[in-house]
Amino acid sequence: MRVLKFGGSSVAGPEAIAATLKIVAQSQTPVLVVVSALGGVTDLLLEATRQAASQQEQWRESLEAIEKRYLDTVRGLLPLERQAAVLSRVKMELNTLETLLEGAWLIGESTPKLGDKIGSYGELLSAFIIAQYYRSQGVSAEFQDSRDLIETDSTFGDAKVNQEKTYTKIAAALTGEIPVVVLPGFIASNAHGDTTTLGRGGSDYSAALFAGALQAVELEIWTDVSGMYTANPKLVSGARPIPTLSYEEAMELSHFGAKVLYPPTIRPALQAGIPILIRNTFKPGEPGTRIEADGNPHGRTVRGISYVPDIALLSLEGPGMIGIPGISHRFFEVLWQKNVNVVFITQASSEHSICVGIRESQASLASEAVNLAFEREIEKGGITPVQVETELSIVALVGDGMKQHQGLSGRMFSTLGRNNVNIRAIAQGASERNISAVIGSSDVKKALNTLHEAFFEEQVKQLNLFVMGVGNVGSRLLNQIREQQKVLKKDYRLLIRVVGISNSRKMVYREKGIPLDHWSTVLEEGAPTNPKGYYYLVRKANLRNSIFIDNTASAEIAGWYAAYLRESVAVVTCNKIACSDRYSQYLELKHLARTYTVPFLFETNVGAGLPVIDTLKNLVLSGDRIRKIQAVLSGSLNFIWNTYDGTAPFADVVRVAQKEGFTEPDPRIDLSGIDVMRKILILARESGYALELDAIENHSFLPEAAQNTADTEVFYKALEAGESHFLNLFKAAHKDGKRLKYVAEFHANSARVKLEGIPQGHDFYNLRGSDNIVLFYTDRYPEQPLMIKGAGAGAEVTASGLFADIIRAGNF
Ligand code: ADP
Ligand code: ASP
Ligand code: MG
Repeated sequence: MRVLKFGGSSVAGPEAIAATLKIVAQSQTPVLVVVSALGGVTDLLLEATRQAASQQEQWRESLEAIEKRYLDTVRGLLPLERQAAVLSRVKMELNTLETLLEGAWLIGESTPKLGDKIGSYGELLSAFIIAQYYRSQGVSAEFQDSRDLIETDSTFGDAKVNQEKTYTKIAAALTGEIPVVVLPGFIASNAHGDTTTLGRGGSDYSAALFAGALQAVELEIWTDVSGMYTANPKLVSGARPIPTLSYEEAMELSHFGAKVLYPPTIRPALQAGIPILIRNTFKPGEPGTRIEADGNPHGRTVRGISYVPDIALLSLEGPGMIGIPGISHRFFEVLWQKNVNVVFITQASSEHSICVGIRESQASLASEAVNLAFEREIEKGGITPVQVETELSIVALVGDGMKQHQGLSGRMFSTLGRNNVNIRAIAQGASERNISAVIGSSDVKKALNTLHEAFFEEQVKQLNLFVMGVGNVGSRLLNQIREQQKVLKKDYRLLIRVVGISNSRKMVYREKGIPLDHWSTVLEEGAPTNPKGYYYLVRKANLRNSIFIDNTASAEIAGWYAAYLRESVAVVTCNKIACSDRYSQYLELKHLARTYTVPFLFETNVGAGLPVIDTLKNLVLSGDRIRKIQAVLSGSLNFIWNTYDGTAPFADVVRVAQKEGFTEPDPRIDLSGIDVMRKILILARESGYALELDAIENHSFLPEAAQNTADTEVFYKALEAGESHFLNLFKAAHKDGKRLKYVAEFHANSARVKLEGIPQGHDFYNLRGSDNIVLFYTDRYPEQPLMIKGAGAGAEVTASGLFADIIRAGNF
C-alpha cells in the first residue's frame, strides 16, 4: 500500500489538482490519496465561523468565497456531462454548511464542537470532488470518509487520536481492493460520532495514521516546496532542500516551526519504521527530502534552522523564591491547569527566577493565573508580579550531531550578536539536538539569514550596501562594484549587493539588490528623502552585514554616523567632516565602532585610494610610534600648482581642477587650506595625538580678498582679480629653481600647513599631476621615512579606496 498526501496549495485549483493526478497515475496501486482543503479554505471557514458567532454579516461573504472556490473547481475540472451530478451534491453540502453558519449567527455563538463540524467541510468537499475528477479521467477511484476511520477524544480543534482503535478500523476498512481511495485529511470523529479535527496542518498526520495502520512502504507528503529546507525558503533565499534527515531531526525542525511537516505526523511513521518523503507537486522530478531512521548517517552537526513566531516570555522573580521548595511546581501547575502550552524553558542558573516562553495569544491568561496563584507572596514582596515580554520569536538550530561538537552555541550567539540581534533567552534541549534563542520578532528574518550564512553558506558572505551620494565618486563606485561583483563572489566568496541608494532628493531600496546597470533610472523612480529618512530606511531593512557608504561632503550626513554604528551598521566614508570635527566626536565614533564591533572606515579621507590610514594603523598597532609626518596631501592644490605657469589665468586652472573632480565640490575648501588641515589632523589623531583643528597653523597663500568669500562666484572673481599675486608667487619660486607645493607637517604635537618652494632633489619636488606623498618618521623609521606616494585625488581612485574599505569591512 502507498500513501500520498496532497496539501492545500497542491489542490488549490483545477491546474494543481490535475498535477496530482499525474503523480497518482504513476504510483503503484493500491494507493491512498489523502487531501487537504483547497488552499486557504480552512482559514476562510474559521473566519466565517468567527464572524457568524460575533453576528457580523460578513460571514455570508466568506461563505460565498468558499462556495465559489469549490464550484469553480468542479467546473474547471470535470467534463460537462459529469458536472451536473457533482455540482448538485456539492451544493447540497454547501447548503448544510450555510445552515450551520446561520445557526451560529442566529444565536451569536459558536462552540469548539460546531467549529470542527464547520471546519470539516473544506476537506470533505475537496476529497469528494477530487475522487470524482480522477474517475472522470479513467482512474478507478472511490471517496471514503476519514471520520469513519480515525477516532479521537473530544478535544475539538486539536483532538487526540486513539491510535489502537483507529488502526483497527483502518485495517478493516482499507483492504486494498480499490485501486485508488481518496480520503479527506484533518478530520476525524470522537466515540459518539461527532466530527473532530486534528489541529491546523493536520492532514499530514491523517496520512501518517493511514500509513502506520497499513504498514505502507513509504509516506509521501506532496507540497509546494521541494522538501524540508535548511530554513524556510520563503524567508531565506539561500535555503536548500535537505536530502535526508533522521526522524528526530525532522521532529525537532517541525516542532520549531518548519511548517512543511505537522509535528505529530512523525510518530506513526517512526513507530512503524516508514520513511517519509517530502516532495514538490509542481516539480515532481526533484528528489525532495527523505526522513528515516538513519537519515543522518555521517552525524552532521547543524541540519536546519527554524523559528516559532508570536512568542511571549513570562518571568517570575524575587528573593522569596530562593530555597523555597515547590515554587516551580506551582508555577508549571497553574500553566498546565489553564492549558497554557509551554514552548520554551530557560536553564536559569539561580533559583531566583523562572522564565518560560509561551504562545503570545495566551500571555494575559497565563500572567493573570500566575499572579493569582502567587498572590500571597506578591503581597509580601517576596515575589514580583510576573513580567511579560511580547513580540518575540524563537530561532533554533537543529541537528543530531550537535551534541558531539563544542562551540556551536558560541558561534550561533556571536553571529547574532555581531548583527545586533538582541538575545532575550537561551535554551539547549536536553537531547542536545537543538539550541534555541528567543529574539525580537522584528529581527527574525535577519537572524535566520545570518545564521544560515554562518552554518550553511560558510564560504559566501553577503554584504548589504546602502550608498549615500551618487555624484562623481558615488557613481564611479557603483560602476566598480558592478564590474567586480562576479569575481568577488566566485574567487573571494564575497557577495556584494547594493540594496539602497540615495542622493539628496530620492532614495530606493531593493532587498534583492539594485541592478547596477541602470541604477540611475531606478533611483529616479524612488521615494523623496532626506538623511533622516534614509537612516530609518536602513534601520527598518535590518539586514545583516549592512554598510552605510557616505560619498558626500555633507556635515548633516556625517552627523548620522553615530546612529548607524549604534545599529551595528558599518560606516565607510570619504567625507572628512566626522573625523576632523571636535576630537571628542572623533573619539565617540571610534568608541561606538568598538562597542558594537562594527567597522568605521575612512581610508579615503587622506590620499584618496592610497593606503595611508591603513598603513598608519598597522604601524601603531604593531607598537611603532609616529614622530613626525610630512606630506603633500592636496591632490587638487598639487594639480593646480603643477599646471599653473602663468600662461592661463590661475582662476581657469582652478576651474579645470574642479571640473575634473580634483577639488571638493566647493573648491574654496581646498584653496583655503582647510581640506589639508583636516587631513593632517586626521593623521595626527590616528597616530594617537589629541589635536583640534583650530590648533593647526594655516598660512594661506590666497590674497586677502579671496579669503572668506560668500560664495564660489565671488571667490572666482577674487581669484581673477588676484592674478598678479599668483604670478608673483610662481615667478619667485621659479627663479630659485623651486616648485610650489602645499606642505602639511605634524611634529611635536603641533601641525601646520603652508605653500612652500621645494628645491630640486627633495622628495616632494617631482610630484606630478594630482599626486600625494606622505612621509612617516617613526621609532622604526627614524631617518629614512616610510613613504607612500601616488595619485591622491580624483573620483576613480577615491571610489577604489572606498571599495577597498568595503572589502575590509567584509573581512572584519
Ligand atoms: P501544505 O499546504 O502542502 O500542507 P504547508 O503550507 O503546510 O503546505 O507547508 C509548506 C510550507 O512550509 C512551505 O511553502 C514553506 O513556506 C513552509 N516552510 C517553513 N519552514 C520550512 C522548511 N524548513 N522547509 C520547507 N518549507 C518550510
Ligand atoms: N486544511 C487544514 C489546515 O489548513 C489541514 C491541512 O491542510 O493540513 O490547517
Ligand atoms: Mg501543511
